[in-house]
This record gives sequence, structure tokens and C-alpha cells, in this order.
Amino acid sequence: MDNCIFCKIIKGELPSEKFYEDDLMIVIADVNPRAKKHYLAIPKRHYKLFSEMTDEDADILGKCVRKIAELAPSLGLENGYRVIVNQGDDAEQTVPHLHLHLIGGQKLTLGSYVTDEK
Ligand code: 5GP
Ligand code: ZN
Repeated sequence: MDNCIFCKIIKGELPSEKFYEDDLMIVIADVNPRAKKHYLAIPKRHYKLFSEMTDEDADILGKCVRKIAELAPSLGLENGYRVIVNQGDDAEQTVPHLHLHLIGGQKLTLGSYVTDEK
């Protein structure tokens, strides 16, 4: 997708702090972290919403989630982490390329993502 920030990051056309990459996904640092650790796990294939997923996208996302679990200790998320997927306007999804926020490195209250507290 031409004008998508995450597609550009995936293609290497924009810089990122990359922690992991394989043929299906990348894991990068969020440029505006809302907790001590805040990563974005981004499937390489461009789509915005769960409602657009194909069966293959669903398989890929399952693999991404398993990989996230495998990577978590090396990302400083060994004590747990929160996964957030914003979907659409009410959730204030700002980048229209499906991504999982991985948030942790500290105790999280229920509101600590929503209110931008660190
Ligand atoms: P959303 O609001 O769509 O769920 O989350 C988009 C996230 O992408 C935000 O947390 C924002 O900080 C992050 N973000 C936006 N642009 C960039 C960028 O160019 N690089 C990185 N690493 N993160 C970005
Ligand atoms: Zn994209």
C-alpha cells in the first residue's frame, strides 16, 4: 500500500528501531511509547481491520501471536504484557495497517494505556 507508514517501514523506506523480522512480521519500538516497553508487532501484509482478514491472514496472525510469546522474554516482557489492537475510529486507530501494541515493562493499571501515563 503506497501511502502506508508501516508498509514503508516494512520495505525499509522509513527507519525504525527493529527488534525482530521474519517473512510474516516485524516487531519495532513504538515511536511514542506509552509505557516503559512499547512495541508494535506488524504483520507484513497490508489490511486495516479484522473484518478484512482472509483465512490466510488469520493463520498468519496466529503465527505472529505465537512468535510474540516466544520473543517476549527477550523484549523485557517476561513479567507479562498487554496486547492492544485498535480497530477503527472509535478506538482511534491512527495507522490503517493492522498492528498489535505490546505494552509492558512495568505494572499496568487498566487505564495506563488509555491515559498515556508511564
Ligand atoms: P494506532 O493508534 O493506529 O493503534 O497505533 C499507531 C501507533 O503507531 C502509535 O502508537 C504511534 O505512536 C505509532 N507510530 C506512528 N508512526 C510511527 C512511525 O513512523 N514509527 C513507529 N515506530 N511508530 C509509529
Ligand atoms: Zn500498510
